[in-house]
Amino acid sequence: MKHILISFLTLFFFCSARSSDPVCSICGARITSDYFKYTLSGSGEEIIVCADCQTKAIKCSICGIPLGKQVFNLDDRQYCSQCFYKVLSRPVCGLCNKRIPGNYTTYTAAGRDILHVCESCESLYAKCDCCGRPALYTEIIDSKTLCRNCASTVIRCKACGAVLLDKIYRYNIYNYTYCSDCEKNLPRCAVCNLPAGKGSRTLSDGRIACTDCGATAVGSIDAVIKIYQLIKGFLYAGYGMKIREVAGIEFCSLEKMRLLASDVSTYDNRSVPQGLFRKDNDSVKILVQPELPRNLLVGVIAHEYANQ
Ligand SMILES: [Zn+2]
Ligand SMILES: [Zn+2]
Ligand SMILES: [Zn+2]
Ligand SMILES: [Zn+2]
Ligand SMILES: [Zn+2]
Ligand SMILES: [Zn+2]
Repeated sequence: MKHILISFLTLFFFCSARSSDPVCSICGARITSDYFKYTLSGSGEEIIVCADCQTKAIKCSICGIPLGKQVFNLDDRQYCSQCFYKVLSRPVCGLCNKRIPGNYTTYTAAGRDILHVCESCESLYAKCDCCGRPALYTEIIDSKTLCRNCASTVIRCKACGAVLLDKIYRYNIYNYTYCSDCEKNLPRCAVCNLPAGKGSRTLSDGRIACTDCGATAVGSIDAVIKIYQLIKGFLYAGYGMKIREVAGIEFCSLEKMRLLASDVSTYDNRSVPQGLFRKDNDSVKILVQPELPRNLLVGVIAHEYANQ
């Protein structure tokens, strides 16, 4: 009995001496020297790590605790279980495609997906001069850095071709845009009144026509008469409109047009009419500005012909 009692006490002392040394949560060894103690923020559980494991073990990329056998991998990063589940609910960086444990910037723009960018991508990638977003791929156009999206939908000045980023002048009827330089300084097209830039031409009477208006300008009276014949046929075939034949179609200079228009009560005096009809006794003549763009001329002749 005595022997048993001594054995029991020996065992007791042996055990109690050993159990006072902490056990490393990673390698499981009793720690007799310095060790590190971590308290898990969520559960309050304490983790003790020996000095050796402290230096050698992989650390959680968020909280920094050394990781044992249970390592959670995501996007080439290692996490403890707590941080892993937290990071799963974090946004993904649109550039490096990794979940963002830390700070990030969110970019929103009409018609574009929301973009979250992690801090390292934010400082690494160039920003688009147009939309302001950092982008993996950028192009330099007119010395402006543009993301692929903006480069593909780039708006250029209709007159000089420059890429427009800041202030633009838009003419909604035409859906044309101009830079402020062209808007302010270019002569106006005599036909459409838009800035006449590259490719514009001077018409036979000295008026300037923009590229569009100049391209289809009808300069010969024969061509104008042909258009009149087509309109006449079209109105008759399509609408059964039989309107009396006009005695003639003539070009009329802008000065003469302005003068004639001043007799017409409906004329507003602000602009020179593009066409007019003149009654002489019983015959009617149509007068049109020289070198109007074809489509406009069709409208002008049809209007004057139907309203004679
Ligand atoms: Zn250890
Ligand atoms: Zn962690
Ligand atoms: Zn990133
Ligand atoms: Zn952009
Ligand atoms: Zn311009
Ligand atoms: Zn024009």
